[in-house]
Amino acid sequence: MYWSARTKKNEKKFADALSLLYSVYSITKTTHFTTMSCCNASSTRPDLHDLSKRINPEEKRLVNCKQVDVNQLMPLKYQWAWEYYIKGCANHWMPNEVPMQSDIELWKSNRLTTQERHVIMRNLGFFSTAESLVGNNIVLAIFKHITNPEARQYLLRQAFEEAIHTHTFQYIVESLSLDQREVFNMYHEVNSIHDKDAFEMTLTSAIMEEGFSTETTEGLQTFLKNLVGFYVIMEGVFFYSGFVMLLSFKRQNKMIGVGQQFEYIMRDESIHLNFGIDLINGIRSENPEAWTLQLEQEVREMIKKAVELEVAYAEDCMPRGILGLNATLFRDYVQYIADRRFDRLNMPLEYGSKNPFPWMSEITDLSKEQNFFERKVTEYQKAASLEW
Ligand code: MN
Ligand code: FE
Repeated sequence: MYWSARTKKNEKKFADALSLLYSVYSITKTTHFTTMSCCNASSTRPDLHDLSKRINPEEKRLVNCKQVDVNQLMPLKYQWAWEYYIKGCANHWMPNEVPMQSDIELWKSNRLTTQERHVIMRNLGFFSTAESLVGNNIVLAIFKHITNPEARQYLLRQAFEEAIHTHTFQYIVESLSLDQREVFNMYHEVNSIHDKDAFEMTLTSAIMEEGFSTETTEGLQTFLKNLVGFYVIMEGVFFYSGFVMLLSFKRQNKMIGVGQQFEYIMRDESIHLNFGIDLINGIRSENPEAWTLQLEQEVREMIKKAVELEVAYAEDCMPRGILGLNATLFRDYVQYIADRRFDRLNMPLEYGSKNPFPWMSEITDLSKEQNFFERKVTEYQKAASLEW
């Protein structure tokens, strides 16, 4: 009795589900999908052995692709995007694999000066939220408009790496028992950090505006400026003073756990930067009408403004020189870095400054990782070939 009642009830549920399914099917059958960034799959069922819908990789496009279903990774067209994905995976690490004991002891001791603590805190403050801004921009602004599966594969990997980087700052704050609110509020409370982030956030909201589309030249130009703002400026300029500062501590055997984490972040970021510039250059070559002289001038002005914001940030972090570093050296360094970015964008150089920190170039060549972790032996890929 009980059993048959249950069965009847289930049958009714099953019938309801079937009729719902059928109505969804009827809707999809009669709806003509417009181009969407999730798929270009047709609503009509194919005839058996109909090979006419097979994709031609030559028809793949980085943006505004209408010919090819974005769910079909292979055959690859953009081999470089796939290689960045493989390189990113080969570099996998987790922040909590890095021992923090000596950092904790040093932080609790009186062996760090007030100025040294200030530099560390400012950089933790900047990076802790900057990594989130990058992750959010990928997921909310970039991903939807990239219509190519191999580039999206990399974006998914990069988004996870940004989560790992945010996790790093959670782990450092917790290990050193820092004031969580102080660190994670600095982008609201410290002008030099606020100014860098405000510059980036405007670029994200421009893409998220209602009605935004990459199908118009103007829209595509706005999208390219977002890519420049995040890949070239945030990850390629705004991160680098912080890298120099924290890695300088490590070179003097101070805060070596934090320093190791920054080395790993920098290695990831050099791939983000290189992927982003290849993406920008790829979109440029597929849509030459979008990269006008005027846009190039705007991009130059954006990068020049970013250099000034970054120099101001470095001065705010270290108003007086410490660790053999000072504001003048940072101006040269940030300008040198910006010239490297102009060069990768095939734009004339702006500054002609020399690199005052040649040791920074050697750090991306991380081949010494076998004894890096105390508890875990992991083989890491050499990143020497990457230009950053
Ligand atoms: Mn990152
Ligand atoms: Fe990044």
